[in-house]
Amino acid sequence: MNSTFIYETIGFGKVYIDKKLRESVKNSVDNIENKNQETLNNSYATVYKSATIHNSTTIYKSTASDLLQQLKAFYETCKDCKKCKLSEQRTQVVFGDGNPDTGIMFVGEAPGADEDVEGKPFVGKAGKLLTQELERVRLLRQMDYYITNVVKCRPPDNRTPEEQEMITCSYILKEEVKLIKPKLVIALGRTAAVGLSGIKQISPTKVRGSFISANLKSPVLAPGTKIFVTYHPSYILRNPNELNNFREDILKIKNLVDSLR
Ligand code: URA
Repeated sequence: MNSTFIYETIGFGKVYIDKKLRESVKNSVDNIENKNQETLNNSYATVYKSATIHNSTTIYKSTASDLLQQLKAFYETCKDCKKCKLSEQRTQVVFGDGNPDTGIMFVGEAPGADEDVEGKPFVGKAGKLLTQELERVRLLRQMDYYITNVVKCRPPDNRTPEEQEMITCSYILKEEVKLIKPKLVIALGRTAAVGLSGIKQISPTKVRGSFISANLKSPVLAPGTKIFVTYHPSYILRNPNELNNFREDILKIKNLVDSLR
């Protein structure tokens, strides 16, 4: 489900929805019980539909849709990528998902089995945990952030991507960054932090909840670009005692996002 889903559902094609309206919609859906993805999407679609009837000036065409179009056009050029051996066993190349227009960008490691089948990042068990924790602070994938991975094809048996695979694949993430011009980059776990920053030795337990800076060797970001680091959600599944620290980081991210709006 990407950011255009809601918009297309309400029959307006691609539209931009302003901040005030977004907030009022969020407040309305806050009261909904059983917030699974489908209820949320339906609720948003309903609220936006009535909002457009009552206040048509709040919805208007935006250059935002141009960005989606540019990303889609770029994806077309690399969806058959065979630059590294991961292409031999993958089902499909898994691109980013969510709303690229907010400039909030989460970056993970690589697709897992569920992502490889569905073709979207972070839809498996770890992804669900992350989505749920972000929803707790009212950050929704369809509206508030874009999410992608350092490596776009599933490594066999979910092994960690090799350094060379990360470098070979970096042309895609680099282009996503170039198009999106993120205001906030969040690395989920060690591989993402290494792939984004160019720093080889990073321990998320030590730097989580804070920023690191990309170095001269970053294949993706300009040197000095700040990267907020937190745990990968799979780590939380394996170490549930770290959930509170993860939640602390998510709250920091929420505050950063609010300060950037
Ligand atoms: N783990 C990741 O790093 N990315 C995904 O898309 C899914 C799980």
